[in-house]
Amino acid sequence: MNKTDIKSMTIAEIEELLSSMGEPRFRAVQIFDWLQSGVESFDEMTNISKKLRESLKETCYIATVKIARRFESKIDGTVKYLFELCDGEYIESVFMKYEHGYTVCISTQVGCRMGCSFCASGLLGLSRNLTASEMLSQIMVASRDNGVRISNVVMMGMGEPLDNFENSIRFLQLVSYEKGLSIGLRHISLSTSGVVSGIEKLKEYNLPITLSISLHAPNDKIRDSMMKVNKKWNIDALLKACREYQKVTTRRISFEYALIEGVNDSEQCADELAKRLKGIMCHINLIPANPVKENTFRKPDKNKILKFQKLLISKGLNATVRRTLGADIEASCGQLRRKGGIDGADLQ
Ligand code: SAH
Ligand code: SF4
Repeated sequence: MNKTDIKSMTIAEIEELLSSMGEPRFRAVQIFDWLQSGVESFDEMTNISKKLRESLKETCYIATVKIARRFESKIDGTVKYLFELCDGEYIESVFMKYEHGYTVCISTQVGCRMGCSFCASGLLGLSRNLTASEMLSQIMVASRDNGVRISNVVMMGMGEPLDNFENSIRFLQLVSYEKGLSIGLRHISLSTSGVVSGIEKLKEYNLPITLSISLHAPNDKIRDSMMKVNKKWNIDALLKACREYQKVTTRRISFEYALIEGVNDSEQCADELAKRLKGIMCHINLIPANPVKENTFRKPDKNKILKFQKLLISKGLNATVRRTLGADIEASCGQLRRKGGIDGADLQ
């Protein structure tokens, strides 16, 4: 029998579960509190009767992630985790210290099927989606391991969150619970490679999260060469969806632009980009491309990056260059893997 993933359930769902077991519904809140506080076994639920704990053990499981490896950056204290999941799969997550608090970059899938040419996460394709409980657990374990409260989350690790829509939404519903992680939606960013159908669905929820769009190119010719998803939804379709999303949510959209030498870093690209984003209330995050050993692309030199940024600013756009964190432990954007970077190949 497949056991139920109780840590992904809402209070109402746990109530239903209890009533189907002939147990009182009011226990649901207690169980939910325990799960969201990060317990890893039913026996830790000390205000629940032993009998009920035993019945729960028979039908349900509590999802956890185990630290398989931990890499700490000597440069900036960033910590990258290789987590082992209950079924033996692996994912990576990153813990970062910012001036405004602690942030965890979580994975949303084991691998990714979007196949962007510059990214390590998709190299082995998609193995499976992560559950909401596995997304929560990455934050819980990173918080416990570092002994701090996490105040911000970015859904920018391995995987495409909008290709795992239901679980990502469920995660967003659970993460702000005040007796649990208590992370407000305003402190969460969801990054997508441009899954337009997902952006349209997300719009209906009208959440105060920050939507980040991995744009990376000012025209379809360049974007087609970098991202397969552009063949399905081109830049016009993507930006139309962004405009409509903004109309409903009134939230500023963040555009990510990974600068790759000789590919998308020319003055003409900056010019074209500024024109295309006209009328969208947005912020542009320039990311100097991070190395992926299977690839040969490089980031432009510092001056070229600053010139690109200046050009965007001169056109009235709000553009910043993202600080690279965890460069010595392969913990930067697009470097997360299913088996762990840095000598991770021995993990089979
Ligand atoms: N799948 C989602 C979220 C995870 S990727 C998405 O693509 O948006 C997080 C960010 O890292 C994305 O903007 C992605 O395009 C970027 N990225 C991927 N590989 C990179 C690389 N080698 N250098 C810099 N950024 C990269
Ligand atoms: Fe997947 Fe995002 Fe990497 Fe593209 S950039 S392969 S969508 S994780």
